[in-house]
Amino acid sequence: MTETYHNYVDGEWVAAETGETFENRNPADRSDVVGEFQQSGVEDAERAVEAAAAASDEWADTPGPERGAILRATSQALEARKDELTETLVREEGKARPEAAGEVQRAIDIFSYYGAKASDIGGTVKSSSSRDTTLYTVNEPVGVAGLITPWNYPIAIPAWKIAPALATGTTVVFKPASAAPNVARKLVECLDEAGLPDGALNFVTGPGRSVGKTFTTHEAVDAVSFTGSSAVGNTVGEQANETGKRVQLEMGGKNPVVVMDSADVDAAVDIAASGAFGVTGQACTATSRAIVHEDVYDEFVSGVVEAAEAIEVGPGLDGADMGPQVNQSELDSTLEYVDVGQSEGATLETGGNAVDVGDGFFVEPAVFSDVEPDMRIAQEEIFGPVLAVLPVSSYEEALDVANGVPYGLSASIVTQDLTEAHDFVAESESGVVKVNEKTTGLELHVPFGGMKDSSSETYREQGDAGLDFYTLSKTVYLN
Ligand code: NAP
Repeated sequence: MTETYHNYVDGEWVAAETGETFENRNPADRSDVVGEFQQSGVEDAERAVEAAAAASDEWADTPGPERGAILRATSQALEARKDELTETLVREEGKARPEAAGEVQRAIDIFSYYGAKASDIGGTVKSSSSRDTTLYTVNEPVGVAGLITPWNYPIAIPAWKIAPALATGTTVVFKPASAAPNVARKLVECLDEAGLPDGALNFVTGPGRSVGKTFTTHEAVDAVSFTGSSAVGNTVGEQANETGKRVQLEMGGKNPVVVMDSADVDAAVDIAASGAFGVTGQACTATSRAIVHEDVYDEFVSGVVEAAEAIEVGPGLDGADMGPQVNQSELDSTLEYVDVGQSEGATLETGGNAVDVGDGFFVEPAVFSDVEPDMRIAQEEIFGPVLAVLPVSSYEEALDVANGVPYGLSASIVTQDLTEAHDFVAESESGVVKVNEKTTGLELHVPFGGMKDSSSETYREQGDAGLDFYTLSKTVYLN
């Protein structure tokens, strides 16, 4: 029997007014139905916004330590269900089991981190030029936040938006991606179990064009935080700007790893292969370009081909290294880019075929060599396990190629030359810059965000910076 799951509005699990549901299936086995979710409409989204607005004053007035205790209790509730959540995540989104376990652990840690921060949100006291004046700032919650998230980190990304929002006293309406709503629903169960007051968080599944659009346009929503593709993000940004909301957009990437002639090539191969093929290349920070000095180019290409061919593709629940793509359209898109790369004249060194394991959306990791900077496979986000390797003959050329895309999310350089490393840190047009590390992988206590088309560049997420988006600062002169 397939389970039917509900929205969570004003503290109640409720069916959508539309009376419709949609089905979610396991990407490693299309015959496995994960569940039926509410195909909500505008009315359902509006009810959620009204509930969040009604709960706003009470949640804002709840003392920070009390809010923090609920977030820490949520962390504990997640911890208690860690194995179940990992299994759910693998089954609905397709990650390999260790990757899914790491993501669930990240959600646990995020709630614990912001649980501790909630007590420190008050503001700061400053000295005044007048002896009679006490001068201080007070941080107030922004009001109601609309949170819209993608499918590729379906518990970690909701966690890194929901936890700081609730820590500040902001109430939330949250729409998960339709391709992976189940682990997000379980996160909401944990918040409910932890004692979150009714209406402080409302969860509504359904299409972006109705639920997502309502969350970005409704007049009672004060701030919109979106993570997803640049195409949808730009629409969300326009919709939210029209209604004067605070907006945070974190979007796509075309992340490079630059490999210089001084690099340890074996290390560079590990860095590039793990960044490109981890989580099936379905990370915003995935390495999709290796920009390699001609002196080490052949050695790098043969190493990365060997690494790609050693990856076992298959269902995450069976212990494979690399799981499927999330759905048919993502698989079709990757296969199309493999065709595009070949028709543009790049050399397909390995991979790029659909893999017939069970009944899922599997593809072999692919490596292209002889890639030119203006080819589509070197410019466009593929969001699958495809690495384009581009030859260069100097640091200056490598930097031009690395920066020569519309995106700027994460970039890495592999070098033994400290001057080159410092230059790259200064000159890379990228929100995250790494030296001798893969482009993927983030620490939760430091800011995260992109530049150029990867981000609205307004506010950063994670760490202390993650709280700023949900906070309004008021300056007080008390004489
Ligand atoms: P997507 O198609 O842009 O969808 C993201 C979210 O937006 C989903 O919840 C989607 O709902 C919703 N949506 C769609 N149309 C909307 C509209 N008109 N108004 C409001 N919401 C709307 O992205 P995705 O395929 O889920 O995720 C992959 C993308 O996310 C990649 O481009 C990746 O680089 C990016 N990403 C960025 C970061 C970062 O931090 N920079 C992190 C992870 C992923 P439905 O699911 O119902 O369509």
